[in-house]
Amino acid sequence: MVLRSPEEIQEIKRRLLEHYPQAKTELRYRNLYELLVAVMLSAQCTDKRVNQITPALFEKYPTIEDLAKADVEDVKELIKSCSFFNNKAKNLVAMAKMVVEKYGGKIPEDEKELVKLPGVGQKTAHVVLIEYFGKNLMAVDTHVFRVAHRLRLSDAKTPQKTEEDLVKAFKTDLAAVHQAMVLFGRYICTAKNPKCEECFLYDLCDWEGKKKLDAKSE
Ligand code: SF4
Repeated sequence: MVLRSPEEIQEIKRRLLEHYPQAKTELRYRNLYELLVAVMLSAQCTDKRVNQITPALFEKYPTIEDLAKADVEDVKELIKSCSFFNNKAKNLVAMAKMVVEKYGGKIPEDEKELVKLPGVGQKTAHVVLIEYFGKNLMAVDTHVFRVAHRLRLSDAKTPQKTEEDLVKAFKTDLAAVHQAMVLFGRYICTAKNPKCEECFLYDLCDWEGKKKLDAKSE
Protein backbone atom coordinates (compact mmCIF):
# COMPACT_ATOMS: atom_id res chain seq x y z
CA MET A 1 0.00 0.00 0.00
CA VAL A 2 1.33 3.45 -0.90
CA LEU A 3 1.09 5.72 2.10
CA ARG A 4 0.14 9.37 2.01
CA SER A 5 2.26 12.22 0.74
CA PRO A 6 3.29 14.90 3.28
CA GLU A 7 0.83 17.33 1.65
CA GLU A 8 -2.06 14.90 1.98
CA ILE A 9 -1.15 14.20 5.60
CA GLN A 10 -1.17 17.92 6.35
CA GLU A 11 -4.57 18.29 4.69
CA ILE A 12 -6.06 15.36 6.61
CA LYS A 13 -4.68 16.80 9.84
CA ARG A 14 -5.98 20.27 9.05
CA ARG A 15 -9.49 19.00 8.39
CA LEU A 16 -9.53 16.73 11.45
CA LEU A 17 -8.50 19.61 13.72
CA GLU A 18 -10.87 22.02 12.03
CA HIS A 19 -13.75 19.61 12.45
CA TYR A 20 -13.00 18.68 16.05
CA PRO A 21 -11.31 21.78 17.47
CA GLN A 22 -11.79 20.99 21.16
CA ALA A 23 -12.08 17.22 21.06
CA LYS A 24 -11.93 15.57 24.47
CA THR A 25 -12.65 12.09 25.74
CA GLU A 26 -16.28 11.19 26.25
CA LEU A 27 -15.39 9.46 29.50
CA ARG A 28 -16.68 11.43 32.48
CA TYR A 29 -14.17 12.28 35.18
CA ARG A 30 -13.42 15.06 37.65
CA ASN A 31 -9.74 14.47 38.41
CA LEU A 32 -6.73 12.38 37.45
CA TYR A 33 -7.78 9.49 39.71
CA GLU A 34 -11.19 9.24 38.07
CA LEU A 35 -9.71 9.56 34.59
CA LEU A 36 -7.19 6.77 35.16
CA VAL A 37 -9.88 4.46 36.54
CA ALA A 38 -12.24 5.28 33.66
CA VAL A 39 -9.56 4.67 31.03
CA MET A 40 -8.62 1.35 32.67
CA LEU A 41 -12.27 0.31 32.57
CA SER A 42 -12.67 1.40 28.96
CA ALA A 43 -10.35 -1.28 27.53
CA GLN A 44 -12.59 -3.47 25.33
CA CYS A 45 -15.62 -1.62 26.67
CA THR A 46 -17.53 1.39 25.37
CA ASP A 47 -17.20 4.83 26.96
CA LYS A 48 -20.97 4.87 27.33
CA ARG A 49 -20.93 1.74 29.47
CA VAL A 50 -18.02 3.05 31.56
CA ASN A 51 -19.94 6.28 32.19
CA GLN A 52 -22.83 4.21 33.51
CA ILE A 53 -20.55 2.32 35.89
CA THR A 54 -18.30 5.02 37.33
CA PRO A 55 -20.76 7.21 39.28
CA ALA A 56 -21.52 4.43 41.80
CA LEU A 57 -17.88 3.35 41.89
CA PHE A 58 -16.63 6.88 42.65
CA GLU A 59 -19.36 7.45 45.19
CA LYS A 60 -18.22 4.42 47.15
CA TYR A 61 -14.49 4.99 46.52
CA PRO A 62 -14.03 8.74 46.03
CA THR A 63 -10.23 8.74 46.35
CA ILE A 64 -7.32 6.53 45.41
CA GLU A 65 -6.79 5.83 49.13
CA ASP A 66 -10.35 4.53 49.40
CA LEU A 67 -9.89 2.30 46.38
CA ALA A 68 -6.60 0.98 47.78
CA LYS A 69 -8.52 -0.31 50.83
CA ALA A 70 -11.39 -1.77 48.80
CA ASP A 71 -12.44 -5.38 48.82
CA VAL A 72 -11.88 -6.70 45.29
CA GLU A 73 -15.17 -8.62 45.44
CA ASP A 74 -17.05 -5.40 46.13
CA VAL A 75 -15.34 -3.64 43.21
CA LYS A 76 -16.23 -6.61 40.98
CA GLU A 77 -19.87 -6.22 41.95
CA LEU A 78 -19.81 -2.50 41.11
CA ILE A 79 -18.19 -2.97 37.69
CA LYS A 80 -19.70 -6.32 36.68
CA SER A 81 -21.43 -4.93 33.57
CA CYS A 82 -17.99 -4.10 32.14
CA SER A 83 -16.08 -6.59 29.99
CA PHE A 84 -13.26 -8.42 31.80
CA PHE A 85 -14.58 -7.10 35.13
CA ASN A 86 -12.79 -9.77 37.19
CA ASN A 87 -9.36 -8.75 35.99
CA LYS A 88 -10.21 -5.07 35.92
CA ALA A 89 -11.37 -5.14 39.56
CA LYS A 90 -8.14 -6.84 40.65
CA ASN A 91 -6.05 -4.37 38.64
CA LEU A 92 -7.91 -1.33 39.92
CA VAL A 93 -7.34 -2.22 43.56
CA ALA A 94 -3.72 -3.28 42.93
CA MET A 95 -3.10 -0.06 41.00
CA ALA A 96 -4.51 2.06 43.83
CA LYS A 97 -2.45 0.15 46.43
CA MET A 98 0.73 0.74 44.47
CA VAL A 99 0.00 4.46 44.04
CA VAL A 100 -0.55 4.77 47.80
CA GLU A 101 2.40 2.63 48.86
CA LYS A 102 4.97 3.56 46.23
CA TYR A 103 3.98 7.05 45.15
CA GLY A 104 2.55 8.49 48.37
CA GLY A 105 -0.98 8.59 46.95
CA LYS A 106 -0.02 10.73 43.95
CA ILE A 107 -0.64 9.20 40.53
CA PRO A 108 2.59 9.45 38.52
CA GLU A 109 2.51 11.90 35.68
CA ASP A 110 5.00 10.35 33.32
CA GLU A 111 4.77 7.34 31.09
CA LYS A 112 7.72 5.44 32.52
CA GLU A 113 6.16 5.35 35.98
CA LEU A 114 2.53 5.05 34.87
CA VAL A 115 3.15 1.80 33.00
CA LYS A 116 4.55 0.24 36.17
CA LEU A 117 1.06 0.34 37.68
CA PRO A 118 -0.90 -2.93 37.48
CA GLY A 119 -3.29 -2.93 34.54
CA VAL A 120 -1.76 0.16 32.96
CA GLY A 121 -0.23 -0.53 29.57
CA GLN A 122 1.29 1.94 27.17
CA LYS A 123 -2.04 2.73 25.51
CA THR A 124 -3.80 3.48 28.80
CA ALA A 125 -0.87 5.65 29.89
CA HIS A 126 -0.90 7.56 26.60
CA VAL A 127 -4.66 8.16 26.71
CA VAL A 128 -4.36 9.55 30.25
CA LEU A 129 -1.36 11.75 29.36
CA ILE A 130 -3.06 13.01 26.19
CA GLU A 131 -6.35 13.77 27.87
CA TYR A 132 -5.16 15.20 31.18
CA PHE A 133 -1.88 16.84 30.23
CA GLY A 134 -2.27 17.35 26.47
CA LYS A 135 1.07 15.58 25.92
CA ASN A 136 2.26 15.23 22.35
CA LEU A 137 1.54 11.50 22.19
CA MET A 138 -0.55 9.17 20.05
CA ALA A 139 -2.61 6.24 21.23
CA VAL A 140 -4.18 3.70 18.90
CA ASP A 141 -7.52 2.23 19.87
CA THR A 142 -9.88 0.37 17.58
CA HIS A 143 -11.20 3.62 16.03
CA VAL A 144 -7.81 5.18 15.42
CA PHE A 145 -6.51 1.89 13.98
CA ARG A 146 -9.40 1.62 11.52
CA VAL A 147 -9.30 5.25 10.43
CA ALA A 148 -5.50 5.21 10.01
CA HIS A 149 -5.75 2.23 7.67
CA ARG A 150 -8.75 3.40 5.68
CA LEU A 151 -7.05 6.74 5.09
CA ARG A 152 -3.74 5.06 4.16
CA LEU A 153 -1.88 6.73 6.98
CA SER A 154 -0.51 3.35 8.02
CA ASP A 155 -0.32 -0.18 6.68
CA ALA A 156 1.03 -1.63 9.93
CA LYS A 157 -0.41 -4.81 11.35
CA THR A 158 -0.24 -3.87 15.03
CA PRO A 159 -1.48 -0.89 17.06
CA GLN A 160 2.09 -0.21 18.23
CA LYS A 161 3.45 0.05 14.70
CA THR A 162 0.42 2.07 13.63
CA GLU A 163 1.12 4.47 16.47
CA GLU A 164 4.70 4.87 15.21
CA ASP A 165 3.44 5.59 11.69
CA LEU A 166 0.98 8.21 12.97
CA VAL A 167 3.61 9.90 15.12
CA LYS A 168 5.94 10.05 12.11
CA ALA A 169 3.18 11.33 9.84
CA PHE A 170 1.61 14.00 12.05
CA LYS A 171 4.56 14.91 14.34
CA THR A 172 2.84 17.77 16.21
CA ASP A 173 -0.62 18.30 17.75
CA LEU A 174 -0.75 14.55 18.35
CA ALA A 175 -3.06 14.80 21.36
CA ALA A 176 -5.62 16.81 19.40
CA VAL A 177 -5.29 14.58 16.32
CA HIS A 178 -5.77 11.51 18.51
CA GLN A 179 -8.96 12.86 20.06
CA ALA A 180 -10.25 13.91 16.64
CA MET A 181 -9.53 10.49 15.10
CA VAL A 182 -11.39 8.75 17.93
CA LEU A 183 -14.51 10.88 17.39
CA PHE A 184 -14.22 10.63 13.60
CA GLY A 185 -14.02 6.83 13.86
CA ARG A 186 -16.80 6.60 16.41
CA TYR A 187 -19.33 8.78 14.59
CA ILE A 188 -18.41 9.07 10.91
CA CYS A 189 -15.93 6.45 9.73
CA THR A 190 -17.66 3.75 11.73
CA ALA A 191 -16.69 0.08 11.48
CA LYS A 192 -19.99 -0.88 9.85
CA ASN A 193 -21.82 1.49 7.53
CA PRO A 194 -19.42 4.44 7.57
CA LYS A 195 -21.23 7.71 6.98
CA CYS A 196 -19.34 8.54 3.80
CA GLU A 197 -22.12 10.89 2.70
CA GLU A 198 -21.26 13.27 5.53
CA CYS A 199 -17.51 12.67 5.56
CA PHE A 200 -15.31 15.75 5.34
CA LEU A 201 -12.44 13.57 4.08
CA TYR A 202 -14.44 11.97 1.27
CA ASP A 203 -12.32 13.34 -1.56
CA LEU A 204 -9.14 12.13 0.14
CA CYS A 205 -10.39 8.60 0.80
CA ASP A 206 -9.82 5.77 -1.63
CA TRP A 207 -10.63 2.89 0.68
CA GLU A 208 -12.31 0.14 -1.34
CA GLY A 209 -15.25 -0.04 1.10
CA LYS A 210 -16.05 3.65 0.73
CA LYS A 211 -19.66 4.25 -0.31
CA LYS A 212 -20.06 5.62 -3.78
CA LEU A 213 -22.11 8.78 -3.67
CA ASP A 214 -24.13 9.96 -6.64
CA ALA A 215 -22.66 12.73 -8.76
CA LYS A 216 -24.94 15.35 -7.25
CA SER A 217 -23.77 14.88 -3.71
CA GLU A 218 -20.10 14.42 -4.63
FE1 SF4 B 1 -14.42 6.67 6.18
FE2 SF4 B 1 -16.22 6.87 4.20
FE3 SF4 B 1 -14.85 9.02 5.02
FE4 SF4 B 1 -13.63 7.09 3.66
S1 SF4 B 1 -15.25 8.42 2.89
S2 SF4 B 1 -12.86 8.14 5.50
S3 SF4 B 1 -14.68 5.26 4.44
S4 SF4 B 1 -16.34 7.82 6.22
